[in-house]
Amino acid sequence: MGARLIDGARIAQQLQAQLREQLATRLTPAGIVPGLTVLLVGENPASRIYVRRKIKACGEVGIRSNLIELPDTVAEARLLDEIERLNTDAAVDGILVQLPLPKHISVAKVQHAIRPEKDVDAFHPRNVGALVTGEPALEPCTPLGCLRLLEQESVAIQGRHAVIVGRSNIVGKPMALLLLQRSATVTICHSKTPDLGAITRQGDILVAAVGVPRLIKGSMVKPGAAVLDVGINRLPDGTLCGDVDFAEAREVAGLITPVPGGVGPMTIAMLLHNTVLAALRAHGAAR
Ligand code: NDP
Repeated sequence: MGARLIDGARIAQQLQAQLREQLATRLTPAGIVPGLTVLLVGENPASRIYVRRKIKACGEVGIRSNLIELPDTVAEARLLDEIERLNTDAAVDGILVQLPLPKHISVAKVQHAIRPEKDVDAFHPRNVGALVTGEPALEPCTPLGCLRLLEQESVAIQGRHAVIVGRSNIVGKPMALLLLQRSATVTICHSKTPDLGAITRQGDILVAAVGVPRLIKGSMVKPGAAVLDVGINRLPDGTLCGDVDFAEAREVAGLITPVPGGVGPMTIAMLLHNTVLAALRAHGAAR
């Protein structure tokens, strides 16, 4: 029998509806209107699509959003100045710099420049450190979205073996930390891991965040596993596919996310969640 599909698009819509409700009943009456500013540098077509989706989603839940576009020739100092201006603007609760950035701009410098309280992507070292030590802080959107999917689908995490393929700072590592916090036994694989399948086959929870189309074959999945496919890969024919061979893996897994319509929409829902959380904290109103 085929795996049950995890409908990330539907779950993200539900979360956004809850946020809309929270804004209408709790924040707006208290005079709090969360604000997100997105900085987009250059003309990367994929970045433009992602930013457009984020801005649209803000409007749907009632978050005030602002897009600042800068040319790909912009000086690093000018971008850092812009971030500093937003850091001190009380109307801005969240700042997001869309990646990738042109090569002449240091991603690390940009991530360090955003005030941790407004860092809705949660890439600032202070937020990363808080994730390691388990202190409350903003948490990165994509791994947080994956966690929410597991929770929504009532997938047990405690004591289960979670295998993560990919060790990037934005997905693999924070995903491992979030699952470790919830008492999973976590293994992280990467490009130097020999016999990848021998390890992925042990995963009760398998997260693929690699960027290699259909790397994870059905034979690499543990029967009944919950499989989360973070990958977004564009094939030569223009279609999208994940890092998991969906057709094969769904025959083996218990639960699986499709691409598109799985993890992607959750990343946006979590960005909205983080912006609202940042606004609540800025007003001393977070629970
Ligand atoms: P990175 O390129 O930063 O990291 C990829 C990781 O995969 C690295 O750790 C790399 O290992 C590992 N890797 C590469 N090839 C192999 C292999 N053959 N076997 C095992 N591990 C391998 O990617 P990201 O983490 O930024 O993104 C991963 C994917 O997720 C991409 O497709 C991206 O587009 C997508 N993505 C989707 C999001 C969403 O909202 N759905 C959000 C963010 C990303 P090593 O460290 O050794 O090089």
